[in-house]
Amino acid sequence: MSIDIQKVRSDFPILNQRVYQKPLVYLDNGATTQKPKVVIDEVAKIYSQENANIHRGVHYLSEQLTQKYEDARKVVQEFIHAAHGHEVVFTSGTTESINTIAYSFGEKYIHEGDEIIISTLEHHANIVPWQMLCERKNASLKVIPVNDKGELLLDEYEKLIASKTKIVAVNHVSNALGTINDVKKIIDIAHQKDIPVLIDGAQSIQHGKVDVQELDCDFYAFSGHKIYGPNGIGVLYGKEKWLNELPPFMTGGEMIKNVTFEKTTFNELPFKFEAGTPNYVGAIGLAKAIEYIQGIGLENIESYEKELLEYATQKLSAVDGLKIIGTSAKKISVISFILKNIHHYDAGMVIDKMGVAVRTGHHCAEPVMHRFNIEGTIRASFAFYNTKEEVDRLCEALMTVKQMFG
Ligand code: PMP
Repeated sequence: MSIDIQKVRSDFPILNQRVYQKPLVYLDNGATTQKPKVVIDEVAKIYSQENANIHRGVHYLSEQLTQKYEDARKVVQEFIHAAHGHEVVFTSGTTESINTIAYSFGEKYIHEGDEIIISTLEHHANIVPWQMLCERKNASLKVIPVNDKGELLLDEYEKLIASKTKIVAVNHVSNALGTINDVKKIIDIAHQKDIPVLIDGAQSIQHGKVDVQELDCDFYAFSGHKIYGPNGIGVLYGKEKWLNELPPFMTGGEMIKNVTFEKTTFNELPFKFEAGTPNYVGAIGLAKAIEYIQGIGLENIESYEKELLEYATQKLSAVDGLKIIGTSAKKISVISFILKNIHHYDAGMVIDKMGVAVRTGHHCAEPVMHRFNIEGTIRASFAFYNTKEEVDRLCEALMTVKQMFG
């Protein structure tokens, strides 16, 4: 089965508009994805008909919405194939999910002299929390290097693993270059030494099937807004064993069993990690988004986006003076590039005026930019609602950029 692109595009109201008198071409899906009408309608329905705080009230609306929130958890559990529903913790996004583990795991298990392994390809969200932890604990960060294609050097990774290594945290897919990392191998290598692994799945979850049990990752983090769901919701998957062992990150209401002024006991999983009123609207909207993409089929999404990537790579490679940064053999539908003698911001401004939305800059991944000795790139990131005609529109915009600055 293939994707009915016109039907799919009509599901996303925002795509059908003109900017600067031109049909909008939205190629900034790595930053955030657009929302199908089913998600928008679901959010509107909750606020207009169903809203009540969950887990607290004994009244009708509260009970109904509590059930929907827990059903949403089940949808996520099945989507990532977690063994238990209580291994799915709702957070505000990937950033909060990673911070939760960096703090909670860090407080309990990281001590002076310990080491944490990350990679050159990380987003700042998977660097800074570990760096701050290292500062608090006098521990140190070790970084897996990459080759000129933007692929992690796994031989070097193996050499970095030492008796002091306490956790490995790497992304599944690089937001800056699109590289798909062999996380299964990274996890297997770490597990041979009983080292847990956190996977930042912010850029992978929306592009292909993720099975946390098959990967055997200890933690997996992702954001709702990058998988066609609402903003302000995300997921932290953690193996039951870890979530039971770890102390809570945030404290307050909902995450407690009993509170006296002398002592507090914590709630069971997953509530121990969901302090305060959770973003139930976001969680239910996220479940709708997941059901929507399941309706399209992840295999269909994967193969269509692969076709788009191949087409775009071929078209962009033919542009004189354009260099693609990140040429890994395995990539998702992201192309980062630079233009000879033209600053990415200048290019971005002109591309925008042509009605094409791309991202320019360091993409919150400054160390990757340093590795390639550049300040930033222009990044086109494609979703399954993009078309080859839109790739052509990007190429036309680049021609205008070259005429103006070349
Ligand atoms: N990791 C990666 C690889 C990302 O691409 C992003 C978002 N650009 C994040 C983490 C942070 O996600 P969020 O801002 O949704 O928390």
